[in-house]
Amino acid sequence: MSVRVRIAPSPTGNLHIGTARTAIFNWLFARRHGGKFILRIEDTDVERSRVEYTENIQSGLTWLGINWDEGPFFQSQRLDLYRAAIQKLLAQGLAYRCYCTPEELEQMRDGQKASNQAPRYDNRHRNLTREQQEAFAAAGRQPVIRLKIDELREIVWQDLVRGEVTWKGSDLGGDMVIARTPEKEGEEFGQPLYNLAVVVDDLDMAITHVIRGEDHIANTAKQILLYEGLGAKIPEFAHTPLILNQAGRKLSKRDGVTSIDDFKQMGFVPEAMANYMALLGWTQPDSTQEIFSLAEAAANFSLERVNKAGAKFDISKLDWINSQYLHQMPAEKLVDLLIPYWEEAGYHSDDRLWLIQLTQLIAPSLTRLQDAGPESRLLFGESVTYSEEARDLLKQEGVQEMMQGVREAIAAWPNLTETEAKKIIDQITKTQKVKKGLVMRSLRAGLMGELHGPDLIQSWLLLNQKGLDLIRLQQALTL
Ligand code: GLU
Repeated sequence: MSVRVRIAPSPTGNLHIGTARTAIFNWLFARRHGGKFILRIEDTDVERSRVEYTENIQSGLTWLGINWDEGPFFQSQRLDLYRAAIQKLLAQGLAYRCYCTPEELEQMRDGQKASNQAPRYDNRHRNLTREQQEAFAAAGRQPVIRLKIDELREIVWQDLVRGEVTWKGSDLGGDMVIARTPEKEGEEFGQPLYNLAVVVDDLDMAITHVIRGEDHIANTAKQILLYEGLGAKIPEFAHTPLILNQAGRKLSKRDGVTSIDDFKQMGFVPEAMANYMALLGWTQPDSTQEIFSLAEAAANFSLERVNKAGAKFDISKLDWINSQYLHQMPAEKLVDLLIPYWEEAGYHSDDRLWLIQLTQLIAPSLTRLQDAGPESRLLFGESVTYSEEARDLLKQEGVQEMMQGVREAIAAWPNLTETEAKKIIDQITKTQKVKKGLVMRSLRAGLMGELHGPDLIQSWLLLNQKGLDLIRLQQALTL
């Protein structure tokens, strides 16, 4: 049997971290087994579905490095298939028309509430006679289609993550609606609903493994009944743990960033994002290995190593993983990722070599790409604010002479190199009979206004190329 899995997002919002993580697990599983990964857009909810969300989902998956082998398929283009399945269920007496009005249903629920019962449809139209149905239709009532659910039934499956799962037919809320009331004149029934469409699609696309979030467990029980009704082979199911917030509740929009676009905007790179998401609920056979590519994960992926317990979303872990990727990325590549962030901060340079040098300098201090702005502001020529320590040092006896000495040396070497910069420091150390450390610290204080920071010589060289070192030292002399 060749593995066929899918991701079936509804385009009612931007690509969400939960959907992206489910996509990653499906993709890893497909790649591990040499199978196919299919993208299906569940756009039957016409009011909430939008083309821009469909595009956002596709571009987000592509950005993460998740490619699909088939699709995208759109449910809105497959309505005939769903209608045929509904006809079949009706013809077999497994589904029926229910003519209850919204008011009647509400009354039913109010009654259940009053007697402390869980809300459910009481199957009152399950056995209407033809005459009763005709009378309702003649009174202008429009039917929904419901699938019969045997209350006494126990639905059992071997979940590939959770083991044996049992669900009672009586816990499914009564006979379930599989199609809405007709919208147009002459229609037999209206919009097919999620559970029906999913089953028809998964069957039609020969899906072998349905891997999706644990919030779909009750749907799985209902879908198994639909597979049975349609006389079809039931796929394997694997329910992955939910992504939780720090309080241990399902991560939601209220927790701030949840869409892949937001993470991208904040300066997480796709490799780090994908790496982190693979770790949300899955552990490598070698659990100490936390930095890996999707291809590496695919070589080891198995559903047995997916946890049952929810996975807490931990932004500091994501930060750490992101920093690992940024620190090991070649400067020639990283620079292109930083340029938009510099531009956004208002910093621009056409000198690519200078930008690459700057990238090398700041890379070790980056956690997110958006740190690039603050980390390089002084090198782009923003004015220095001196820390108190730097100010004190620059006023210390002898330091002004050092700064003066450096200025003169710079004037003698217009295009400073690393060797020359080091020579200047040695020279000042000798002529002024001071410790080298003091010269270096003073120079840093003069150039950057701080006593700590990235590599001094490299910072100096970057400033030198823009003629900023002389200006800064001059300024330091006037403090
Ligand atoms: N449209 C559903 C969702 O986004 C698909 C669930 C499934 O995979 O069946 O949650």
